[in-house]
Amino acid sequence: MTHIPGIVITGASGRMGQMLIKTVSESDQARLVGVVERADHDWIGQDVGTAMGGPALGVTVTDDPLEAFAQAQAVIDFTAPEATLEFAALAAQARCVHVIGTTGMTDEQIAALEPAARHAVIVRAGNMSLGVNLLVQLTKKVAAALDEDFDIEVIEGHHHHKVDAPSGTALMLGEAAAEGRGVNLADVSDRARDGITGARKRGDIGFHAIRGGDIVGEHDVLFAAPGERIVLRHLATDRVIFARGALKAALWGQGKAPGQYDMVDVLGL
Ligand code: NAD
Repeated sequence: MTHIPGIVITGASGRMGQMLIKTVSESDQARLVGVVERADHDWIGQDVGTAMGGPALGVTVTDDPLEAFAQAQAVIDFTAPEATLEFAALAAQARCVHVIGTTGMTDEQIAALEPAARHAVIVRAGNMSLGVNLLVQLTKKVAAALDEDFDIEVIEGHHHHKVDAPSGTALMLGEAAAEGRGVNLADVSDRARDGITGARKRGDIGFHAIRGGDIVGEHDVLFAAPGERIVLRHLATDRVIFARGALKAALWGQGKAPGQYDMVDVLGL
């Protein structure tokens, strides 16, 4: 049994945290060895299975990440940028694979992961699903095949609790489109049009965020030219796709050299 990697889930009570706990505890390829929440959370000290309203899982929710990470081979982290930075340093200290699903990190925060990546494997992706990572590759190819007669717009939809926009996935798709075109996204990104903005600039990549209800995650990449349109679309209907991808990444990272990786590496796309 001991060769089966032990996994810690951070943000235990979150939408993704609960899905990850379910996915890891039901897997025969990994063991759930710890769950972490914020210090002031009322789940601290409770069995996580009971706290989730189901049978006990024999794992107590803690607010001490380092103690939890010391028992584990991987940490799966879908929380918030500041928390993820703290967890990166602790996961590196414990030599755990750190799978980061957290989105909304600034460029400075992403750069601040580098010292941790010198000591441990970090797998970070704004979207852990197989379908979206395939869509990213397709977007790059289609953007490379078409010229700037085709206006590119990335349209995403998420539930009304989501705190960041554009979504991490929309940004991945925008980056892929820019890469396909051989330009920097920062130079062509057009976000949040409002009022008299003037006509659309040729070559720009536009972003639009819909927020409502319980939408799990929807992404369209629109290539619109005079006379025709191409739409590449991914619809997520169940968060389990992200949890399965994250678990795959945690297992894939075992024994890999320290450094930063993404789901394209994990999925071998
Ligand atoms: P959520 O708000 O439901 O959950 C976040 C959890 O993190 C909460 O339980 C919160 O208490 C916990 N948390 C915050 N700070 C903490 C700390 N310092 N220590 C321990 N726990 C802490 O949010 P969610 O919908 O589960 O999403 C979480 C993140 O994952 C977001 O950034 C979201 O965009 C991202 N996400 C990524 C993917 C992907 O595939 N990469 C998929 C879905 C969501």
